Amino acid sequence: MKNILLIATGGTIASRPTVSGLAPQLCAEDILQCVPELESLCRIDTLQLMNIDSTNMSPDCWLRIAACVSAHYDQYDGFVITHGTDTMAYTASALSYLIQRSAKPIVLTGSQKSIYSQDTDARRNLYDAFLAAQDDALHGVLLVFDGRVITGTRARKTRTKSLNAFSSIDYPDIALLREGRILHYIREEKPDGAPQFYTELNPRVFVLRLIPGMNPGVLYSLLDSFDALVIESFGVGGLPCYESEDFLAAVAAWARIGKPIVITTQVPHEGSDMTVYQVGARAAGMPGVLQAHTMTVESVVAKLMWILPQTRDLSRITSLFYTPVAHDLLRFI
Ligand code: ASP
Repeated sequence: MKNILLIATGGTIASRPTVSGLAPQLCAEDILQCVPELESLCRIDTLQLMNIDSTNMSPDCWLRIAACVSAHYDQYDGFVITHGTDTMAYTASALSYLIQRSAKPIVLTGSQKSIYSQDTDARRNLYDAFLAAQDDALHGVLLVFDGRVITGTRARKTRTKSLNAFSSIDYPDIALLREGRILHYIREEKPDGAPQFYTELNPRVFVLRLIPGMNPGVLYSLLDSFDALVIESFGVGGLPCYESEDFLAAVAAWARIGKPIVITTQVPHEGSDMTVYQVGARAAGMPGVLQAHTMTVESVVAKLMWILPQTRDLSRITSLFYTPVAHDLLRFI
């Protein structure tokens, strides 16, 4: 039997109704007791790291989760992290940068319905998460939900209420879980050697969703408070140029003080390609302007937070940003 550590952080899976709505109140042991079948699957220790609605997750919490995995890495064969669904995809991305080349599975899961509601998905998701965490073929940061194993950097919450809340964006699921068994769609060699843990993040990253007619002055107003800007642009990616107000001048102001801008898209699938239109190509050629290509916004945000403490040199930022980590950046060959 494998040894798995359950790290509990809160979320609906740990919630009970209160007078002001659902709130995390159950501890890791309470949650485990609801799934007695786990006893015959693996040996489980528990650690209650925090008990929060994932709306309150922060880069500091991500660092605490990564540090917890690091501190216990040698003692366990795998890890399950229970987490609220709302920001689970951000945490999955952040952990994919903070814990690299792990040969052991580090599995995030949660539920759309409280573990005590009759039609809960919590028990199934929890069982599936342990099944994945003790599997010999799986490794790295994964998200398990509704019978699917999704790579951490590709996950996104795409449904607010249905049980199939998560999607793997522009990348196949790694595996399928059905009735206590795993079907592997993708098998990869496990990384050799020890994983690499990182201990710093810079949270000064801002995401700006472009709307038609937006005044570029907003870029100047963000300049002092943030060290990197992500612009969710339109289509394959471009920046507007109105008659008298040009976004490019505002973008250049960021580059002048060595702060990167990443252009991504509001369109849910297929990523950016700023070479297609003049409105994109003009911006793409500017120093300090990067594009997300196939990376999800969640991963872009987490990757910038991970890069910025390592370097403030724009060319080094660019090279780290375009170096794929855990399938975050997919390229056509
Ligand atoms: N608000 C909850 C959370 O993210 C939602 C959930 O867990 O499903 O913590």
